Amino acid sequence: MRPGNHETIREPERTIPVYRTSEILVVGGGPAGVCAAISAARAGAEVTLVERYGCLGGLSTGGLVIWIDRMTDWEGQLVVGGLGKEITDACDAENALIGPPREQWGSKDKKLAAYWGMRTAGHRGTVNFSPTADPEILKLILNDMVREAGVQVLFHSWAVASLVEGNSVTGAIFESKEGRFAVRGGLSIDCSGDGDIFAGAGAEFENDFDSVSAHARLNTSFRFGNVDMRRFLDFRMIYPEKYSQLMREASSEDEWLTNTAFVTPNDTIALFLTPKFSGYSALKVSDLTEVEFRSRDTMRKVLAWYRANMPGFERAWIHDTASQIGTRHSRRLRGTRRVDIAQWREDGSSAESIGMCPGLSPEFSTLEIPFGVLLPEKLDGILAAGRNLSCDTTSHAALREIPECWVMGQAAGVGAALAIRSGRQVREIPVAEIQAELRRQGALVSRADCIPRDREN
Ligand SMILES: Cc1cc2nc3c(=O)[nH]c(=O)nc-3n(C[C@H](O)[C@H](O)[C@H](O)COP(=O)(O)OP(=O)(O)OC[C@H]3O[C@@H](n4cnc5c(N)ncnc54)[C@H](O)[C@@H]3O)c2cc1C
Repeated sequence: MRPGNHETIREPERTIPVYRTSEILVVGGGPAGVCAAISAARAGAEVTLVERYGCLGGLSTGGLVIWIDRMTDWEGQLVVGGLGKEITDACDAENALIGPPREQWGSKDKKLAAYWGMRTAGHRGTVNFSPTADPEILKLILNDMVREAGVQVLFHSWAVASLVEGNSVTGAIFESKEGRFAVRGGLSIDCSGDGDIFAGAGAEFENDFDSVSAHARLNTSFRFGNVDMRRFLDFRMIYPEKYSQLMREASSEDEWLTNTAFVTPNDTIALFLTPKFSGYSALKVSDLTEVEFRSRDTMRKVLAWYRANMPGFERAWIHDTASQIGTRHSRRLRGTRRVDIAQWREDGSSAESIGMCPGLSPEFSTLEIPFGVLLPEKLDGILAAGRNLSCDTTSHAALREIPECWVMGQAAGVGAALAIRSGRQVREIPVAEIQAELRRQGALVSRADCIPRDREN
């Protein structure tokens, strides 16, 4: 095994086929990649999206991260529109979403905020639109959306190397059941979450992680079925002290037992986005392996404890474990812009905004995300969207969330399509052009696009 073994072998050089040449190559079919591919295709580009697994959605489906973080600000205004809104509307239309109705967004009513606080959508005494989705319906919706946009999708193909000519990325090499092949892209968008393509192409990045903060924690999420969630939620609501006492007892028995059960659109299924293990790197296979073992061992203990102690869980079963390990952070691009906490503290605005992220807490304004967080400082032919964006660790906690990955993906797709259409480098395109196309696609680009609640019809 790798640790301690420094032996190497030399792989023979080989000639590989070019499977496809496409105007735009998107690597990774998670929240960012799907939106990048759809928006680029809707802007008129020919797009190939390549994903290592067999479904779309990345962590938001395969990782069971089905709690979509806040899409509204602290006043209840929608700040994430565009494709993110289309996706949540489509889930809602298929009864695959649980979240507060629009008229309750921003409400400070204590009872409402407490009710939704138990259902992932009440924070700091405010009702937010931060719904929870059914991952299987979400996969179907994303399939429909890429097909309707005319995106060429290749599943079961893992990017293993970047193609670079001079200072420009020209595609990637993939490993598959058919062996190795290349896909050439006029422009590539790295939506692997881990920055596999820009790192392979030599772009600068940050990959700091520590063993104490939640920033880089890893875990494999899971769901329990045959649960009576209504009884559980009533218990939490009516007897908060008893619930807290139970959780304290769990933690004194074993620190990893204190896992919160979250709602899902199905009230017989509970979601666990824990336990969060720190001190592991998402870029080391031995660490990833250990986290898979530890997560499932812990899940077994959590099941036994919940069955024995928690109202509503007496007859619970393991419904499933995530097919994708939960990686919060690995690499972050060094972009032409880097969001840091100072931007939030000033007033969060940016003239180069391509979309928004609601304030970290009510004290912070909504952040306007500058396009430069997606654009490498020096390397051409590539953009990076999603959790591998350019920012500091504090900002990353908010900007890596699913709504923001939808936002960044859509902007990257539009930027790439405009560059291809006009034969320019992405960095030569005035941000105003990208903003105009995003607005044409229904995105909320800056605070000026938000409609105050009292002016909504
Ligand atoms: C446990 C946990 C809890 C979280 N909780 C929340 C929450 O409550 N709300 C919220 O909004 N967000 C939450 N997040 C964050 C959010 O899920 C992610 O940050 C977001 O999904 C990132 O989207 P992405 O598209 O950048 O990357 P990903 O979702 O990771 O998607 C990347 C895609 O690229 C593919 N890929 C990767 N490498 C390659 C390769 N080399 N070749 C081909 N394909 C590749 C992957 O298979 C995947 O489909 C949580 C994350 C974790 C881990």
